[in-house]
Amino acid sequence: MKLAAEIAALVPEMKTWRHYIHAHPETAFEETATSAFVADKLRAFGLDVHTGLAKTGVVGVLRCGSGSDAIGLRADLDALHIHEKSGVTHASKTAGKMHACGHDGHTTMLLGAAATLARSKRFDGTVYFIFQPAEENEGGGRVMVEEGLFDRFPMRAVYGMHNWPRMPVGAIATKPGPLMGAYDIFEIVVTGKGAHAAMPYQGKDPMLFAAHAISALQTIVARNLHPLDAGVVSVTQVHGGDTWNVIPQEVVLRGTVRTFRRDVQDLIEQRLRTIVAGIAAMFEMSATVRYERRYPATVNSAEEAKHAIAAATAVVGAANVDPDPVPEMGSEDFAFMLEAKPGCYIWLGSGRGPETPGLHNPHYDFNDDALAIGTSYWVTLVEQQLAAGSARRAA
Ligand SMILES: [Zn+2]
Ligand SMILES: [Zn+2]
Repeated sequence: MKLAAEIAALVPEMKTWRHYIHAHPETAFEETATSAFVADKLRAFGLDVHTGLAKTGVVGVLRCGSGSDAIGLRADLDALHIHEKSGVTHASKTAGKMHACGHDGHTTMLLGAAATLARSKRFDGTVYFIFQPAEENEGGGRVMVEEGLFDRFPMRAVYGMHNWPRMPVGAIATKPGPLMGAYDIFEIVVTGKGAHAAMPYQGKDPMLFAAHAISALQTIVARNLHPLDAGVVSVTQVHGGDTWNVIPQEVVLRGTVRTFRRDVQDLIEQRLRTIVAGIAAMFEMSATVRYERRYPATVNSAEEAKHAIAAATAVVGAANVDPDPVPEMGSEDFAFMLEAKPGCYIWLGSGRGPETPGLHNPHYDFNDDALAIGTSYWVTLVEQQLAAGSARRAA
């Protein structure tokens, strides 16, 4: 492992930032104190600071030398609506909210990189440090792009990372192509005809629709997708009925669809709508489908994945870099930035062994042992990509 001495020296201070942010979690688009904390630190490091993008987003600008090349590094600021049970001394002071996804660690590592690069200045060009709100559910990354992130701060490529508790500290994984899935949600409302449960012939039973639909929706992946294409259809909610002896009028089903490719996403949506309409017709009921595409797939570009792997290899060594991990169907709103710009998203190992609580678990706490590695990765990536005197500068 090649960790710069200046980063190792900064770690004790970074831990205090991380613990402060962890103790004061804020959720989507309400990260005002976290945002102010970040902006103050960036100003103190000497960066040019822009606030207010996507409400609580912050962009720090660091220029060095005469190069016109620029890259962006992105972290996320938000916490989750979970009641913390970790028992750590820096646990959340806000009931019902906690940093259960490690965004406190992501923010700290990007601040650490800003502090280090502002001091060492071993690069030529511009680095944009992007701190986005509302990664969880609300698409803060999308809002930043819509509000002109890449117009106001033109950059060649954008890079992101997420801590990964299933991988040990010291490991890094990424690959070209999709790394995380697209996130769609659906809601099916079926209206039958309520009746006495002892006289079902007088009604039209929407429960029967639900039973058939839940089974039939599983045939989409099993029977409509190419066997080597990936897709997930999960019905996660069934709402209907109030008592034992009444056939309800209405049943609501909700769930999620995950895919890596747009054509697969299109196919699943089309089949879902056809199956719902078909079963409703079969049972002489009406059904409506609300289908919403929330986050696209997180797709790394080939060139930038190579750059990310090179930086990771320089920090943790080739033996600890997995250049071909199995992608996950979880989703990530950095995907919106990758739709607009070439770039790469990596998984940074943060596990403490097999018992490490997973992301979004109430016992989860970001592993401070990963701070120096994530920070070194950022610093190395900048020093490699914006190397003084590089040929790229002339382009
Ligand atoms: Zn999360
Ligand atoms: Zn997260």
